[in-house]
Amino acid sequence: MASVHPFISRNSSRFFPPLAFGLMLAVLLIGCSTALNRNTTVTSPPLMRVRLLLAQEQLTIVASQPPIYRTESDPTPRALVLPGNVPMIVTLTPAGWRIGSTILGTGTLTIQPAVEGSVKVAPVIAGTVSPLRPYRGSFRLVPISPTKFDLVNDVDLEGYLAGVLPRELIRTWHEETYKAQAIIARTYALNEKATVGSGRYWDVYTDERSQVYGGMTDESDKSRLAVNQTQGVVVAYGAEGQERIFKAYFSACCGGVTQSAQAAFGGSFFEPLQEQNNQAICNASPRFNWGPVVIGKEELVRRIRAWGTAKKRPEKDMGAIKEVVLQNVNVWGRPLRFAITDAKGLRFSLQAEEFRTACNFDANNVSITHGKPASTLYSSFVKVITDSESIRFVEGHGWGHGVGMCQWCSQRRAEEGMRHEDIVLAAYPGAKLIRAY
Ligand SMILES: [Zn+2]
Repeated sequence: MASVHPFISRNSSRFFPPLAFGLMLAVLLIGCSTALNRNTTVTSPPLMRVRLLLAQEQLTIVASQPPIYRTESDPTPRALVLPGNVPMIVTLTPAGWRIGSTILGTGTLTIQPAVEGSVKVAPVIAGTVSPLRPYRGSFRLVPISPTKFDLVNDVDLEGYLAGVLPRELIRTWHEETYKAQAIIARTYALNEKATVGSGRYWDVYTDERSQVYGGMTDESDKSRLAVNQTQGVVVAYGAEGQERIFKAYFSACCGGVTQSAQAAFGGSFFEPLQEQNNQAICNASPRFNWGPVVIGKEELVRRIRAWGTAKKRPEKDMGAIKEVVLQNVNVWGRPLRFAITDAKGLRFSLQAEEFRTACNFDANNVSITHGKPASTLYSSFVKVITDSESIRFVEGHGWGHGVGMCQWCSQRRAEEGMRHEDIVLAAYPGAKLIRAY
């Protein structure tokens, strides 16, 4: 891995070619030949639209200073005078938004805190108010039915990242690991915004479906510093002047060997997301070695059928499991496909990540587990043995899909003195660091 880059130095004079300066922010869709050319020249952090809550009937809000609000029916900004520091319930009625006995207007309700952090919100779950949490930026309450609404946090990307890093990394980890993750999380968020976020009123979830985000409550000095010191920097790929960001996959622990995005999710070969041998440098992870994990055949077939039903795949009609075998592995020995043979003699071949997802599908169904943690696969980097009543997964390695940057490998590299720029570039062969804004 080349480690000499003209823009990498210890002082602030390092230079990142500006992606957005006079260029269009182009986004490469992995697994798809279409490149989106979006005319979104940006000079400051773009807004991330984070869907905090879905389909709520009530929201608790508390403000230490009167925020400004406006509604679609009354777009004039007005002060929302609430009793200071007293939690109030917001509801959506056919007549409009109601806080206490006040009706505010109809349509989307926007609440802009007077000072960052001066407004806290919490869902009301089964009549109980959850802990109130402050968020940067503003809040948007979007009606989705006459009485239900989503809560979206509109926050600039840098502020969003400060609330992501502490939830994605271990608090004691190296600051260079944090900076590497800041670059990757920024790239990932921008890519989500430009692809799945376009055409809808929000960009990202607050959980593993996007990146875990806890708002200001979860921020740390380390996360804020890492975001500040990498401001605007993203990882991209392409010839000079034509760089494009991409879906910068990352996972907790690769188990020593990554898999390519092509193997995990389909599509065509993409150099930065190829499989890599990381030489077991993430072996400090508690999930570097795991297993055996045993799942009863009956339970496994229930999960795989449920997955097949959800995905409209032939596995929905799978019979009792006769045998599960590993079909083939990548150049570094990481599984690519598994095959399941059922009692009727039908054979189902699944990509390794499909297989893991299917084996874990609906695993925590409380009517079956009675609240106990269910047996699940931490990764698809595992061997499989068919016993008479169960399937035994042995010699498991890693945690997560194992595509792109491995967080435990990154931490090891940081501990050994590697700087964040090189940590990122080691994880994405052929990629570059550039400024998005
Ligand atoms: Zn690793």
